[in-house]
Amino acid sequence: MCDLCPDVGFSRRLFFRAGAAALAATPLIGTAQAQPARTADTPDAALKLLLEGNARYVANQLRERDFSAGRAARASGQAPFAAILGCADSRVAPELAFDQPPGELFVVRVAGNFVTPDGLGSLEYGAAVLGTKVIMVLGHTSCGAVNATTEAIQKGNTLPGHIADLVRAMKPAIEPALKETGGDLAQRAVIANVRHNVQRLQEDKPILADLVAGGKLRVVGGVYDLPTGKISLV
Ligand SMILES: [Zn+2]
Repeated sequence: MCDLCPDVGFSRRLFFRAGAAALAATPLIGTAQAQPARTADTPDAALKLLLEGNARYVANQLRERDFSAGRAARASGQAPFAAILGCADSRVAPELAFDQPPGELFVVRVAGNFVTPDGLGSLEYGAAVLGTKVIMVLGHTSCGAVNATTEAIQKGNTLPGHIADLVRAMKPAIEPALKETGGDLAQRAVIANVRHNVQRLQEDKPILADLVAGGKLRVVGGVYDLPTGKISLV
């Protein structure tokens, strides 16, 4: 174990194969001498905390927080229990939706909540070095990026600027949903996009797939319902 990551919880073999030694030599985030205790130490416990936090958010019973308390302590390190791959949508704020304080969630956001190379590297870092126990790919209802991709596939249009890159990247996940029948197409596309990216992360070698196989990490999908704030696993 390195000084940077005393609670990493995976083998040195994997650590070095994954090149995490290089990460330790050039730490990106949180050069801790003393890491704070992790709130959840297993994937199931981490998922439970997320869902319990979301239930408080839905009921509008968020825990009262003093954001200045613990700020100085957090400067020495972090031990987030979960990572979220969420949409950039302004209405879906992970820390609020899961009622979690600073230091608990490692969050990657991009319109359409899909895996990008940079986002993947961030999630690998979160899992392998910071020790996140669960990754949730978090989509939401009425997602503009998903709807734009669906429309672009249907009409064959090209969106301006780099928005076209988003659509291109999301197309493989959403295209199959267009061929299915039943239910609402927009919702089918949101779910298909989440599931596609969950699978992508679960199978990504060497870091995430090995952690999943070893029971150290779970990758799950969720959809946030805009009107109620409730997150359902999909
Ligand atoms: Zn969205």
